Amino acid sequence: MRPAVFLDRDGTLIEESGYLDRLERLVFFPYSVDAVRVLNRAGFLVVIVTNQAGIARGIVEESFVAEAHRHIADRVAAGGARIDGFYYCPHYPTGTVEAYRAVCDCRKPAPGLLHRAAADLDIDLARSFVVGDRWHDLAAGQKVGARGVLVRTGLGKRDEWEPESGTTPGAIVDNLMDAAAWILDQA
Ligand SMILES: [Mg+2]
Ligand SMILES: [Zn+2]
Repeated sequence: MRPAVFLDRDGTLIEESGYLDRLERLVFFPYSVDAVRVLNRAGFLVVIVTNQAGIARGIVEESFVAEAHRHIADRVAAGGARIDGFYYCPHYPTGTVEAYRAVCDCRKPAPGLLHRAAADLDIDLARSFVVGDRWHDLAAGQKVGARGVLVRTGLGKRDEWEPESGTTPGAIVDNLMDAAAWILDQA
């Protein structure tokens, strides 16, 4: 079993852009690929876990999410780094697309995506970490025993000042590169 770093996508690995629906709007932070490579080399699996309610809301096609994830994987690979898995929740309780209108177990803060990844990739959750710009990212990690790092990119600057009771961050840092450094310090 290997430890993983579960990365939120929007606002953490790439810029938060509302509902990402075109590749032109997919913008990496300048340090993102380096941060993934640092984590790869330290022996962590790197897994994207992302809520994509835009699918249930009829704003984003599931095929586009797949295309965006191929694009991210290619870009990361071109920088000599690797993402080991992409997991997303397409659901929303009041979505307009009936097939995805659901209260599910995978929309963060629920931990379903983490459990699924752990089963697929043989992940040791107790030695794993979650990095995200929202408290619900950290809450999902906390439910499976993974420590969380809140980043001040995306919506993190706001969330930092609106703490969520019951969710305790391991650290709050400026961005994904600082999160990677903190994780390496702990491991
Ligand atoms: Mg986010
Ligand atoms: Zn879901």
